[in-house]
Amino acid sequence: MSRMRIGYGWDSHEFKSGVALKIGGVTLPHDKGLGGHSDGDVLLHAITDALLGAIAAPDIGTLFPPSDAKWKGADSAVFVREAVKRVRAAGYGVVNVDSTLVLAAPKIGPHAKAIREHVAELLGVAADCVGLKAKTPEGMGTDNAAIAHAVVLIERAKS
Ligand SMILES: [Zn+2]
Repeated sequence: MSRMRIGYGWDSHEFKSGVALKIGGVTLPHDKGLGGHSDGDVLLHAITDALLGAIAAPDIGTLFPPSDAKWKGADSAVFVREAVKRVRAAGYGVVNVDSTLVLAAPKIGPHAKAIREHVAELLGVAADCVGLKAKTPEGMGTDNAAIAHAVVLIERAKS
């Protein structure tokens, strides 16, 4: 097994009325939230898949099937914690994460620090080990969706 491994995750959810908007475990003020799997936290889902991908584990939809009523409205932190646990069980620790959100609204800038700090806490790394950029979906026609990309680097734990 190599000393370092990389993982990549991607996710998207559709905006819908009547649900809270949660991104990176932080509730953001907005008139719509994200529907779909669990609490719809698109960023935490992408990060979960990046962590699982780094150790070639089954993906989030396989481990936590959206068809299972148990995950309806679930806090997505549960998925991240399980992925981190699996990374550690495989003998690795998280080095850093980088991520990009693609969404028309709301603006992420004012909340970026809170999101980065919350994600860092979930991963057990310093806040400066969590990158977060936000882009608007220019010309993509996806204004009613939020998309997240994430890459993670993991390193074999010293023994
Ligand atoms: Zn998702």
